[in-house]
Amino acid sequence: MIDQLKAELAERAQAGLTRKRRLLQSPQAAYLIADDQRRLSFASNDYLGLANHPNLISALQNAAKEAGVGGGASHLITGHHQFHHDAEQALASFIGLPAGLLFSTGYMANMGVVAALLGRNDAIFADKLNHASLNDAAVLARAELNRYAHQDLSQLEKMLAASTAQRKLVIVDAVFSMDGDIAPVPKLLVLCEKYDAYLLLDDAHGFGVLGEQGRGILSHFDVASPRIIYMATLGKAAGVAGAFVAGDETIIEYLIQSAKTYIYTTASPPSLAAALVAAVNVMKSDEARHQHLKDLIAYFKENLSLKKWQLMPSDTAIQPIVVGSNEAVLGLSDYLLARGVLVPAIRPPTVPKNTARLRISLSAAHALDDVKLLIQYLHEAEQALLA
Ligand SMILES: *Cc1c(COP(=O)(O)O)cnc(C)c1O
Repeated sequence: MIDQLKAELAERAQAGLTRKRRLLQSPQAAYLIADDQRRLSFASNDYLGLANHPNLISALQNAAKEAGVGGGASHLITGHHQFHHDAEQALASFIGLPAGLLFSTGYMANMGVVAALLGRNDAIFADKLNHASLNDAAVLARAELNRYAHQDLSQLEKMLAASTAQRKLVIVDAVFSMDGDIAPVPKLLVLCEKYDAYLLLDDAHGFGVLGEQGRGILSHFDVASPRIIYMATLGKAAGVAGAFVAGDETIIEYLIQSAKTYIYTTASPPSLAAALVAAVNVMKSDEARHQHLKDLIAYFKENLSLKKWQLMPSDTAIQPIVVGSNEAVLGLSDYLLARGVLVPAIRPPTVPKNTARLRISLSAAHALDDVKLLIQYLHEAEQALLA
């Protein structure tokens, strides 16, 4: 096996697909230290700049003094701390759904929910650009997986109409993680009602960004339905870790009884849950932070003017520029890095072949001057690299 792995690794290197981990030596911030160098970073999902917020840090420290460090047991044994409970209620009420359940990671939440609710006689309908965790969830559930072309609702409708499955679940990224575009939730809901399907929304990149006070995709569209199962990760805009699932009380109760990635794992440290409550409080009280992010997104879109590379149409904090080949995107990423700016080059298999891209993520932690500098370097890079 090791020889085979060596050969595969060499092939990947040959194709420009080797990934390297940068060594972070500071908190997440607009300016961070990576590999011993100070960089201006557009490379995190810390959209609200909460990952290093003093309120979250002190909430975590105080909670650790009170509750200790480790969760110690699974939620159904003795791991379910008051802090977890408080965070579930704060999160569910923030997005306006009756009940919520904390998971240790978003990956586990997606696997747990889908495998608990669906089985062999059921079917999943999934956008082709969904996050990897949702595809793995389908495999784990052993349900039939129907993947439709990105945002192609007429193809989705044909699949739903043709399905004879017992339970049907439409699954989408509410905000697509490598494109930044938004799923048309009201239209999806109409289809779900017409074909008696449920809708799992993965709001990893919408929570904290979209809607009033960053309440996410449901607030953005002002929709509500017992058919919606809502999932958001808490290591992105919320600045902490984990994920929560919210929706109808029966669904949440069923998940407590049967979601394996909830039941058969140790509860996350209670102090993280206390930090999450602090994060929700910041989101509710510091509207200026959310507004600043929205202003930066609008400024970036208005002032970037590229001739050949293509800024994707996105109103979210994810602003990708499609460059094409792996070499070209690495060249661009290196050009920016040489000027102290860190923006990741995203290559296949994370994105489809020949659509390698620069994934710029904006954050409330950035100053307007940071975004101006990025725009200037992008303009210069296009001139220099495409000359
Ligand atoms: C990041 C992400 C996840 C996984 O969440 P983690 O908490 O990081 O495991 C799931 N879905 C989407 C769309 C994501 O972007």
